Amino acid sequence: MNASIAHSATLAARTTDSLQLLQSVISLDEVKKTFSSSGGESVDVIEDITLDIKQEEFVSIVGPSGCGKSTMFNIISGLLEPSAGTITLRGHDPKRGARIGYMLQRDLLFPWRTIIDNVCLGLEVQGIPKARRYEVAHDYLARYGLADFAKQYPNTLSGGMRQRVALIRTLITEPDLILLDEPFSALDYQTRLVLEEEIVSILKDAHKTVVLITHDIGEAISMSDRVAVMTQRPTSVKKIYDVGLSRELGSCLKARSDVRYQTFFDSIWNDLDIQISGGAS
Ligand code: ADP
Ligand code: MG
Repeated sequence: MNASIAHSATLAARTTDSLQLLQSVISLDEVKKTFSSSGGESVDVIEDITLDIKQEEFVSIVGPSGCGKSTMFNIISGLLEPSAGTITLRGHDPKRGARIGYMLQRDLLFPWRTIIDNVCLGLEVQGIPKARRYEVAHDYLARYGLADFAKQYPNTLSGGMRQRVALIRTLITEPDLILLDEPFSALDYQTRLVLEEEIVSILKDAHKTVVLITHDIGEAISMSDRVAVMTQRPTSVKKIYDVGLSRELGSCLKARSDVRYQTFFDSIWNDLDIQISGGAS
């Protein structure tokens, strides 16, 4: 272990120590998933995911494309059954009424609904009366600088703003856990940097527990308390890094310019074992 990683590990250990005292929000214990194909063959996708995420932690998952990351989210959110292993959300089975907010690469805002009506969707599903949902939604939109856009339609907003709206729509239902599946991958680089910063700040302010899937190593390092690196399919957790740079420095951008950033980057890059052939673009 080189000096800067060791230094960072010490700092992160303090964060991790304080996290030890906090309640576990989501625990995956030896979770496995095998899909059966129509031809009757079975495909092992998840070999073993064992991961415990604490209250207000921000954990990123990086791994090769197709290794089973989105499948893991579908299992956490109860959309898919694991083939083996257990998942507990605040000590209970997640299928029993746990609130999980799910945000995807595409914002999935309804184009025929105004921003406020998109933001209200979850409250509407919960049967909350219109006057009350508008009151709550106005409060959220104002808090996150989107009040002026309440009556506009999604197509009048930039991709970055639509993702902020999608996040607010997720937050408004007060989920116990927020799952972000490559939420920035369709955005340009500058917008991504701004949104990373904003979203970490919004989620910290709201005291949320977050799991982010990303193929962007830099994004994972700059945003997270911990980064879990996954193996190729059938996937398992290869390594977990205590990063904590954005928490320590109060900014994702500062995390990117910290000397430890590159060391983490190189180490995670090596773990991912990315093959670059001479002709690759
Ligand atoms: P990632 O999100 O890591 O890119 P996914 O979790 O989407 O990967 O998919 C992992 C693997 O599981 C892929 O090979 C995919 O084809 C396969 N897979 C995903 N869902 C199903 C399904 N419902 N039935 C069969 N195979 C699936
Ligand atoms: Mg995926």
